[in-house]
Amino acid sequence: MQKKAKENSVEFGLKLTNTLEVQNHKPIFPEYEKMMYMSGRSLHPISINVAAKLQNEFDGQLDISFSAGMDAFNVSDVLAANIKPITVCTDILKPGGYTRLAQYLHEINERFSEKGATTIDEFIFNGSGQTDVHRAGLEKLNLYAESVLDNPAYQKENKHFDSIKTTRTLTAYDCVSAPCIENCATDQEIPEYMHHVAQGDFNSAYETILNTNPMPGVTGSVCDHLCQQKCTRNNLDSTLLIREIKRFAQENSQGVQIEPKPFNGKTIAIVGAGPSGLSCAYFLAMDGFKVDIYEAKPFSGGMVSDAIPVFRLLDESINNDIDLVKSVGVDIHYNSDVDKNMFDTLQKDYDSIYLGAGAQNNKKLNIEGESLPNVMEPLAFLSKVRRGEINELGGRIAVIGGGNTAMDAARTSRRLGADVTIVYRRTMKEMPADIEEIVAALDEGITLEELTAPEKIYANDTENIFLTCSRMALGEADDSGRARPVKIEGSEIDLEFDTIIPSIGQDIAFDFLSWQDLRVNPETNETKIPNVFAGGDVVRGASSVINAVGDGRNAALNMIKAFGHSYSDANDRTLRLDKKEYQKKMAFREYGLTTPHLDPNKRINFDLVTRTLTQEEAMSEADRCLYCDEVCDVCVSVCPNLANLSYMASPKSYPVYSVSKTETGVNSKQDSIFKLSQEPQIINIGDFCNECGNCTTFCPTSGDPYKTKPQFYLSKQTYDLEEKGYWIDGKTLFSKNDGIQSSLKLTDGSYIYNSEAIDVKMDSSNYEILSAQFANGKSDLILSHLAEMISLFENLNQYPLLVSGES
Ligand code: SF4
Ligand code: SF4
Ligand code: SF4
Repeated sequence: MQKKAKENSVEFGLKLTNTLEVQNHKPIFPEYEKMMYMSGRSLHPISINVAAKLQNEFDGQLDISFSAGMDAFNVSDVLAANIKPITVCTDILKPGGYTRLAQYLHEINERFSEKGATTIDEFIFNGSGQTDVHRAGLEKLNLYAESVLDNPAYQKENKHFDSIKTTRTLTAYDCVSAPCIENCATDQEIPEYMHHVAQGDFNSAYETILNTNPMPGVTGSVCDHLCQQKCTRNNLDSTLLIREIKRFAQENSQGVQIEPKPFNGKTIAIVGAGPSGLSCAYFLAMDGFKVDIYEAKPFSGGMVSDAIPVFRLLDESINNDIDLVKSVGVDIHYNSDVDKNMFDTLQKDYDSIYLGAGAQNNKKLNIEGESLPNVMEPLAFLSKVRRGEINELGGRIAVIGGGNTAMDAARTSRRLGADVTIVYRRTMKEMPADIEEIVAALDEGITLEELTAPEKIYANDTENIFLTCSRMALGEADDSGRARPVKIEGSEIDLEFDTIIPSIGQDIAFDFLSWQDLRVNPETNETKIPNVFAGGDVVRGASSVINAVGDGRNAALNMIKAFGHSYSDANDRTLRLDKKEYQKKMAFREYGLTTPHLDPNKRINFDLVTRTLTQEEAMSEADRCLYCDEVCDVCVSVCPNLANLSYMASPKSYPVYSVSKTETGVNSKQDSIFKLSQEPQIINIGDFCNECGNCTTFCPTSGDPYKTKPQFYLSKQTYDLEEKGYWIDGKTLFSKNDGIQSSLKLTDGSYIYNSEAIDVKMDSSNYEILSAQFANGKSDLILSHLAEMISLFENLNQYPLLVSGES
């Protein structure tokens, strides 16, 4: 074909390839779709190797136009391989959008300067020793194609989280909110403490953390950091190490003074000195309550002190938090088991009670052989190891279960010398444990038997025991949203072990309160029993530390409210970046640190696996924060058609009137307010939007920006074609909303609002109604749409694109 092309004076070249048809294996699409398309990052190593194979056949003489997972970090290498033109697609459909191209130029310039190249050909020749540009390119292509296969940037493990979308509802206005905060059970003000750490102000960072979380030592080490899963940076490069930065701030603050309010005359009893009880106690004590904690054990911290292995959490970190809670005046009464009588006494002696006693009874497998001597309870095992009562454990160990306690039991057994197998009835993907803990267990040489469900334990005349299991397949999702394991008939196998540790969760240990008693209102953590609140594992079953802390805080805030007090943890602060600085930050991708774990080969003892960040690491990592609580604009940058527009509004409240017809005219009174609280607001330009849904994919809420945001049209012609939307000509704002047409005009200091239902004249300086007249059969109305239209008009009536239809 190359020859033919030459004979016909045309060019022959090849386009490689922005999509590759692959099996719908996940399945991302419905099952009936057998195929799907691979694109972006994962396609890059494949396509570049296809390019190398072809180019070798053509001795470097093939013209290849390339498009597969291109980004700022690989564009120079591909150019150096004499592949051009390069087309960029997936990368600029992600947050940052077209502005990402600035980094391409930046990186190309840097690489050219490094090599002293001023042209692409010079760059290709550089260091090759070849005299022919095609050969020079081919040499570099071969080297690059080989190196890319081992590059972690293209490997699946590099990304553990599929989407940063949260369950938050998207609203037409005021949608800016940091997804990391949204996903934190205790509303940590993450961007604020990131900012303080980036500035080197570690005391302010620590104070900010304490505003909503009195357990930074514990959560800085073992939080399951759901915030990181939703970090906007996941869609740019890599999540911020939020948990690690918290730990750094806690360990590097000095002399922070915490001042609780004076005693307010009210007393609270808390049952359990675990994370939930301690958290509740802290916030109550800070507000002036007298708090007594009753703890059954001779120490505080609950499961955290008793069962989390020291290779994950140091005593110092736990003690820091316990000392903090005691320092604000909380009294902890140890060895005080709360039974029915004691509970009755507490109800009489205190104004309120918080039950935060955890769930410390191991759940039973309910299979034959569970009480054989070689079957151990995980919590007792972990506790004994933490207290130095078990120092070795050889042989083959089965840990049954997929939660964090199961991972702790498995990793602890491994350190004690055992050959460990985790037996789990679903697959790794459905395991409830923190993904980091699962990966750590596998890295440490633990075997995972997926889709394997225990059915019986039995012993023979040797010292060993056998676990009879059935193999499972995944079926439909169950109530937990995870695929239900379905037994494969006839698939029974016997696995032989020395010890079995069933670890499938925990139940509550109270016997005087029923499950119904402990059902709480999730908004307030209040139980059905008057003045009794509850939270943490006692309500949720075995859950995360941060959920326990969050429940404790929520209950405390609601008790404070119930006693007529107010509690504010809001920080006064100014904007951290202006919008231009923010846009620049969003445009440049910058991979951060990976969690500084000990090499798996060195994890042979109980040394801490994750070290604290250095000051330099913490400050540079924190500086990657995009401050998503101030500006979002993700939908703006990801739109290929530039159809979402961000504008800066003046935050303001507008009265919403209720109007009704009377015999003499029309009565009006204020019904509510329409409030715009944030400066950055979004509208959608209907003329540009082709409803591709890319903004939905990346918007951190659960919503669809292009459907939810006010939709404007740039001309009367396009506006007239639609059922719903706005059009503005500089003096008048026109609207179609729920089939009702209306217009708003500013004239001589008055707003004139005309709709099919009512005509209103309003003073534009104070928004008082000057006159109103019902236009048809209606006799009462709430004028909320009028308030919304005034806000849109005032903020957008001079916006050049909208008024003239030109950008
Ligand atoms: S970039 Fe910062 S504010 Fe945004 S989600 Fe990540 S940590 Fe939170
Ligand atoms: S749906 Fe519309 S606004 Fe959203 S990305 Fe696609 S074109 Fe842009
Ligand atoms: S992506 Fe757009 S609509 Fe979604 S939260 Fe951000 S600014 Fe709002």
